[in-house]
Amino acid sequence: MEPFDAVIIGSGPSGASTAIKLAEAGWKIALVEKEILPRYKTCGGGLVYRGRNYLPFDISSAVERELHQVEIFFGKKSTLIFKAQREKPIVTMIMRDSFDSLLVNQAKKHSIVIYEGEKITGLENDENKDLAVVKTDKRTIAAKFVIAADGALSPTAKLAGWPETRQICPALEYEIKVSPTDFERLSKTVRFDMDVVPKGYGWCFPKKNHLSVGVGNFMKLTKTLNLKTYYQDYLQTLGISNVLEEQAHGFIIPISPRTDGFVKHRVFLIGDAAGFADPVTAEGISNAILSGNLVAKALVESQANLDKATLLYQQYLDEKILPELLTGIKLAKLFYNNQKLRNLMLQKLGQTATEAMTDVFMGVRSYPKDYKESIRRRLKLMVFSLKKNPDF
Ligand SMILES: Cc1cc2nc3c(=O)[nH]c(=O)nc-3n(C[C@H](O)[C@H](O)[C@H](O)COP(=O)(O)OP(=O)(O)OC[C@H]3O[C@@H](n4cnc5c(N)ncnc54)[C@H](O)[C@@H]3O)c2cc1C
Repeated sequence: MEPFDAVIIGSGPSGASTAIKLAEAGWKIALVEKEILPRYKTCGGGLVYRGRNYLPFDISSAVERELHQVEIFFGKKSTLIFKAQREKPIVTMIMRDSFDSLLVNQAKKHSIVIYEGEKITGLENDENKDLAVVKTDKRTIAAKFVIAADGALSPTAKLAGWPETRQICPALEYEIKVSPTDFERLSKTVRFDMDVVPKGYGWCFPKKNHLSVGVGNFMKLTKTLNLKTYYQDYLQTLGISNVLEEQAHGFIIPISPRTDGFVKHRVFLIGDAAGFADPVTAEGISNAILSGNLVAKALVESQANLDKATLLYQQYLDEKILPELLTGIKLAKLFYNNQKLRNLMLQKLGQTATEAMTDVFMGVRSYPKDYKESIRRRLKLMVFSLKKNPDF
């Protein structure tokens, strides 16, 4: 069989986005997916506006709900509450089975070959022919390039020789049905509760007819948490006493980029395989799509030249993804490791911070590079106002 231009492993948002862009450019693409589509994917299904903006086609058939308001609760007793609203939907709620299928169907319009229900099991280089050879449990596929879009566990990255350098965090996701009264009460807003998990948060995302409720820990701890207990407590915080139906799922999110590069041999890493989820929020769909778009751009512009594509991909990541992630890692440390100081500061600056975070979700700003100076300045102002008004 003729070799493919590229074989993409994984049909999540990163892999499907690459497939769409490469197929649009006339590349001959194979997409290998271990599940049969549509498949459930453990995810809150909160697609922030900037991620949605990376998709220049109609996704309405996969939209469960559009939310124009975000609420963020801080403090063990949820004593600090901040809200932000925007005209455009801040978070579009999706279920990943329909959403990921919609993206794959978009790629299918350009006649790509899909091997569903097949796992990658081996990876070799055929240097003589300038090809990579991917083995699945059913066949052998030769291609000029391999795109590892196979998520947090990324067997492809392991087979290509990457050691683990990403920070990996655990998260639980529950799809639950609650009483009509509770659903009505919780379905108008995107809700984050920052202090219901040590160094992490809980979320309540309303879908069409149910809630996606989850808890995650996003910073290293000295002990392992029993997240199930935190989920049960979180239901109390949300005022849910009766869960009518519940499906529990657990998985991991890599929240820092790999430290040893994103290309090896003929393999390019994107999305969770590369560690591109946001270090503060663990929101990963936006950068999954963006990195998929960027790798496709690099490959097409290189005219399938490996060295050129490697340089271009790194350049695009340096421009569009990595600086924000590196600032995000530092901000996450400040945010999760100094809870008392953070909440004290938020009494004064909570609304400003909530608006800024919402702007990041909307894609109109990034994390401030000069965040240290800005925090130092604001701390000084705060200490000054504390001195003037000790009751503050
Ligand atoms: C509990 C939880 C909640 C989250 N909530 C949100 C949220 O609300 N919003 C948000 O933006 N992000 C969220 N994330 C993060 C988000 O899910 C990921 O960042 C995103 O899915 C990454 O996309 P991807 O395409 O890189 O990988 P994935 O979406 O994981 O896709 C990888 C694909 O590869 C396939 N695959 C795996 N192994 C193989 C193999 N051996 N052979 C072939 N195929 C294979 C998988 O079946 C899968 O289809 C959440 C994550 C978790 C765990």
